[in-house]
Amino acid sequence: VIEQGQPEHGIVTTCAYCGVGCAFVAEMKGSEVVRMTPYKDGGANHGHSCVKGRFAFGYATHKDRITKPMIREKITDAWREVSWEEAIGYAASRFKAIQEKYGRQSVGGITSSRCTNEETYLVQKLVRAGFGNNNVDTCARVCHSPTGYGLKRTLGESSGTQNFDSVMKSDVILVIGANPTDGHPVFGSLMKKRLRQGAKLIVADPRNIDLVKSPHVQAEYHLKLKPGTNVALVNSLAHVIVTEGLLNEAYVAERCDMESYAKWKSFVAEERNSPEAMEAVTGVAADAVRGAARLYATGGNGAIYYGLGVTEHSQGSTTVIGIANLAMATGNVGREGVGVNPLRGQNNVQGSCDMGSFPHELPGYRHVSEPATRGLFEKEWGVTLESEPGLRIPNMFSAALDGTFLGLYVEGEDIAQSDPDTQHVLSALSAMECVVVQDLFLNETAKFAHVFLPGSSFLEKDGTFTNAERRISRVRKVMAPLGGKADWEVTQALSNALGYPMNYKDPSEIMDEIARLTPQFHGVSYAKLEEKGSIQWPCNDEAPEGTPLMHVDHFVRGKGLFQVTEYVPTEERTSSKYPLILTTGRILSQYNVGAQTRRTANTAWHPEDRLEIHPHDAEDRGIKDGAWVGIKSRSGETVLRALVSERMQPGVVYTTFHHPFSGANVITTDNSDWATNCPEYKVTAVQVLPVTQP
Ligand code: SF4
Repeated sequence: VIEQGQPEHGIVTTCAYCGVGCAFVAEMKGSEVVRMTPYKDGGANHGHSCVKGRFAFGYATHKDRITKPMIREKITDAWREVSWEEAIGYAASRFKAIQEKYGRQSVGGITSSRCTNEETYLVQKLVRAGFGNNNVDTCARVCHSPTGYGLKRTLGESSGTQNFDSVMKSDVILVIGANPTDGHPVFGSLMKKRLRQGAKLIVADPRNIDLVKSPHVQAEYHLKLKPGTNVALVNSLAHVIVTEGLLNEAYVAERCDMESYAKWKSFVAEERNSPEAMEAVTGVAADAVRGAARLYATGGNGAIYYGLGVTEHSQGSTTVIGIANLAMATGNVGREGVGVNPLRGQNNVQGSCDMGSFPHELPGYRHVSEPATRGLFEKEWGVTLESEPGLRIPNMFSAALDGTFLGLYVEGEDIAQSDPDTQHVLSALSAMECVVVQDLFLNETAKFAHVFLPGSSFLEKDGTFTNAERRISRVRKVMAPLGGKADWEVTQALSNALGYPMNYKDPSEIMDEIARLTPQFHGVSYAKLEEKGSIQWPCNDEAPEGTPLMHVDHFVRGKGLFQVTEYVPTEERTSSKYPLILTTGRILSQYNVGAQTRRTANTAWHPEDRLEIHPHDAEDRGIKDGAWVGIKSRSGETVLRALVSERMQPGVVYTTFHHPFSGANVITTDNSDWATNCPEYKVTAVQVLPVTQP
């Protein structure tokens, strides 16, 4: 007898939150999900889960879901519910009118790391083949674009090198700019398990994150650096390794490009890169840097895990390159227990990048200027493709303000809340003549939209996600799309209305096309995913069973390429007016801008963003724990309640960005990574003063 609320059957699917990509059983009673249970055979999680994933179904049926397409002439007009046909026809006609008036380059699209590989692939195909330009970008622009750039340049592939389980063979773990126990909890637990077994830990982070000291785990070294000085720290670690002869010369001679190695070695050996010379810059004691460098280089298998604390800087790409340099120089790439491992924030960041969401790359990270690659896609798609890269998201905004980019199709991404320098974003959106938002909720971006197309949650989708260890897992539909159409069907209908025909019957056909066109996916099919459960790419003729470890015998690019990583201080400086540095991050129970987690049962645990501030800074300003404070930067101001905390270092404050009313991005700067334009969310000079309750 099945009691009220007890599940009757279950469907295996993949968590829609972080880049760990845990497998779950969505347990159903009738057509309703009543429980999410971690799946014991899940390749990434082996039956474990975190609190976010267990509650991940609540938002799918939240009363705020918009299930009817809507249109309006102007953003000041009221929304009008219409049929799918009318909404899609209206969007297509407005896009066409813009292109006729302002040219082919005047429209574009943004894909989402919350959508499946198949959906993302279709959006970039619509832009390249339907709009006829390369103006497609992804929300990965604002998180891990430096990873793509830095790892491709040095190692030859835009991905992490290891599977998660590899950490159980690590002897030394260097965590830099990541907070795995909050951001990637299931992997954070696995890492702690290895640390409890005796692996040594080095943490490089401006805050006392939980990993630094928790029951049975204590970092050997906490390199508590000042925000914005990652490159200086990595260079000083490299300096010690080079000048104290801790290099793995035999590995480098066999695996790496020796000319680039020689240049890098002589650069990092310069005295100006020594821990002593860099101490005033990083704020980290030279002895600690020397000890950490020795431990990483000589302690056995050394693994590096990093997150947005590395990438979201004006030198994000430089730090990624610096980390890869460290790993190559010490022989720590190409076997279990080592490697360079980006911890991806969203569940499908890896996948959205793999699928050609960047304006310069077709699926599989191949540059749009390569004639052979373009030829392959042109033949399959029956179009002529642009050979010049399109606009990145920040360039789309600038072009909108210049009057040359006036139509935008955004699927599953709230750019108005999540992108930096909010005023600039809002001005750009206001300047556009047609904004089409496809999402679950009327989010902040939808306030500037002319067409709203109901999106579907992961519970309403068939497709695949690719996690931070390149693991492709099935997402399975457990209920019908509330709006009546799956996301891929909406994109297909829009493309057809634009005049570029698409005729897929099922997401598996989209995956078959991806596999035909993408070398890393040549061996992937839904049938194989059913058989194996999940597959780590590359999966092709050379690796038919997939690839848990990359770069085993040689680097994907051939010889590993070292790069000189000159430290260039960020332009964002403190001053008497803005004497503190604000940095941002996540907490365990919330996910990104909170659109999903704020609408599930766990939201009461952290109902607001707080400003963490060191007791000395709080006392200097007369700020008590829990009091309201105004935070002012050169870009804007906001108000939060204070959390006085020893986790901070004096001079540095911290907040999360899970709630729209906190407006963390109102105060972040428009600085960005030199190579990829990833915003510098992690360094904003601010003043913090007490205010009365707003
Ligand atoms: Fe796993 Fe991440 Fe989902 Fe938590 S949020 S259950 S760690 S995928």
